Amino acid sequence: MTDTAERKMQFLFALRSKGVTDKRVLSAMERIDRGAFVRHYFLDRAYEDTPLPIACGQTISQPSVVGLMTQALKVQPRDTVLEVGTGSGYQAAILSQLARRVYTVDRHARLVREAQALFSELDMANITVFAADGSHGLPDQAPFDRILVTAAAEDPPGPLLAQLKIGGIMVLPVGQSDAVQHLIRVMRTENGFDYDELRPVRFVPLVEGLGRDG
Ligand code: SAH
Repeated sequence: MTDTAERKMQFLFALRSKGVTDKRVLSAMERIDRGAFVRHYFLDRAYEDTPLPIACGQTISQPSVVGLMTQALKVQPRDTVLEVGTGSGYQAAILSQLARRVYTVDRHARLVREAQALFSELDMANITVFAADGSHGLPDQAPFDRILVTAAAEDPPGPLLAQLKIGGIMVLPVGQSDAVQHLIRVMRTENGFDYDELRPVRFVPLVEGLGRDG
């Protein structure tokens, strides 16, 4: 077996052993090369189940956490999905394999530019990237079937709850940035919102306003 094939097998094995069992999620993660989203000096660690630094002091999430969040979101092929926290673009690329349309937003213009370039290069035509404070959601594109937040807020932001369709699902980490956070799932019903707590996680904080990186 080649080195790459073996690394890929180990990558998928690690995902399964951490509880990523959904076949569509696994096959999306098999198709999307995480190496393309990792900065070159960390390339040899791209297939390890570990978060890695990206530009603007942010991180690309741990693959098993990406898998578990995507699985918890129960994305359907006709869904319109909002991701808050584009970062490297890796999570959005996975979502683009499962949904009809993906909107992703980051407060750092540089991350948005770099992710946009990658999506074009990889022909991922169903992803649109915005530079904005995603805690306000994207009112012009709302409502969404699914919302995934990849930075931690103390509480689910009100505008995001408001932009979720009835029957829609939002997955997000909540808690303070220096403490243990919890991944929660919010389901919007006719009468309000149902919450369930999934697992402890650790994410960079959701920060208000735009980044000053140009
Ligand atoms: N999903 C990313 C990892 C995200 S790291 C990936 O797959 O690589 C969290 C990201 O959230 C960072 O890029 C950070 O800039 C962004 N972020 C933090 N607060 C935000 C806000 N209010 N609006 C939009 N993006 C935000």
